[in-house]
Amino acid sequence: MKIYRFLDQNKVRMGVGENDRIWRYDGTDAFHVGKVEEARPLPLSEARLLPPVVPSKIVAVGRNYAEHAKELGNEAPSEPIIFLKPPTALLPPGGTIVRPPQSQRVDFEGELAIVISHEARNIRREDWRSYVLGFTCANDVTARDLQKKDVQFTRGKGFDTFCPLGPCIETDLDPSSLSVQTRVNGEIRQNGNTSQMIFPCDFVLEFVSSIMTLLPGDVILTGTPAGVGPMAPGDAVEVEIERIGTLRNVVA
Ligand code: MG
Repeated sequence: MKIYRFLDQNKVRMGVGENDRIWRYDGTDAFHVGKVEEARPLPLSEARLLPPVVPSKIVAVGRNYAEHAKELGNEAPSEPIIFLKPPTALLPPGGTIVRPPQSQRVDFEGELAIVISHEARNIRREDWRSYVLGFTCANDVTARDLQKKDVQFTRGKGFDTFCPLGPCIETDLDPSSLSVQTRVNGEIRQNGNTSQMIFPCDFVLEFVSSIMTLLPGDVILTGTPAGVGPMAPGDAVEVEIERIGTLRNVVA
C-alpha cells in the first residue's frame, strides 16, 4: 500500500495511492488508515504532496555504501556512522531546495528512508520489520564544503529544505534489493542498489535503537550510493527508488 499525505483545500489529508490516483481516507496520519472515501479520487499529478510523516527526529547513516565512502576519500566504516538532521529541514515533493549563502557546494544524496511505526528501544535484529511502517525516498542534501570544514555534520546537513522526503510511504516492501537512482535534469547521476549497503536495514535499526528511543514517524536515512555531486540553481533533482516512486525537487 502507498500512503500519501497532501493538502486538499488547505487541509492536511491522508490517502492511499493506486493507478496514479489518491483515494482519501478518514484519519490524520499514516499509522491508522481509516475508511477510504470511494468518491472523488485525486489525480496524483494534481496533488499538493507533503512529506508523508512528521518525524520527531531524522536519523541518517553516513558512508553506508563502500563506493560512496571511497569517492569522498573515506574508509568504509566498521560500525554505522550516524548523525541527525533537524525536522525543520523537511521539504515536500515538488518543494524548492534553497542553497544557503554560507555554502559554495550543495550536493544531492539519494537515499532509501525507513519510517518507524511504533515506539521502540533496543530492537532485536530479527524483529526489526514489526517496528517499520514502510519506506520512502529521501534526498540527504549536504553542504559539502561545510561538512568537510566542521567536525560535526550538523551545519552541513541541517539547513532548511535539506531533507526532501516522499512522495509516499510504501508499506509492502522488502528493502534488501531495490534500485536507487538519482537524476539531475533527467541525467542519471547515481545508480545504486540497496543490496550494496554495508549495514542493511535490520542492522541499522538494532544499532540506532540501542542508542535512542525511536518514535512513530521517525525517519532513518540509510545512506547514499556512489555518484554524489553538486546542484546548481534551476536544476531538477529526482530520487527514484524501485517500487516506491520518484521524489522530485527543484533548486533555487
Ligand atoms: Mg547521506
